[in-house]
Amino acid sequence: MPEYYFPEQVLLVINKKAIKGNYVESFGGFCHCGKIMKTVAGFSNDESYVVVECPSCGSMELLVSAKSLDFVRKMDLVVVNSRDRVLEFLRDVLSPSELETVLERLKGSRYNYSSFNRAKKKIKDFKLDLDYLLAFFQ
Ligand SMILES: [Zn+2]
Repeated sequence: MPEYYFPEQVLLVINKKAIKGNYVESFGGFCHCGKIMKTVAGFSNDESYVVVECPSCGSMELLVSAKSLDFVRKMDLVVVNSRDRVLEFLRDVLSPSELETVLERLKGSRYNYSSFNRAKKKIKDFKLDLDYLLAFFQ
């Protein structure tokens, strides 16, 4: 499972756990396009993470630095800011039957309430709200 970043919530889902972060603004290294990147959010648990963004080409990356180590490594980051990305996230965290229920409800078809509630609870465990995610589909 890749790492997911929810810009509006300043939330990072990493190793299937959600971490709330803060907006931070500082130097974020250099982008592959050659321009300077800016940090946009910082997170920490046993490791520190920063999300960096290139104002020039828009690419975003996740930098990780273990507190005990001196190096920084880059990780793949999925920025959840569109319908396709929300779908990717739901596919990763919900069971196939829960995902189907959520899609049925989006279509306005009949759906299984208990399965939908299970999906809702799972999303809540990631400190997110399913209704917020489903709003991307409207
Ligand atoms: Zn760039």
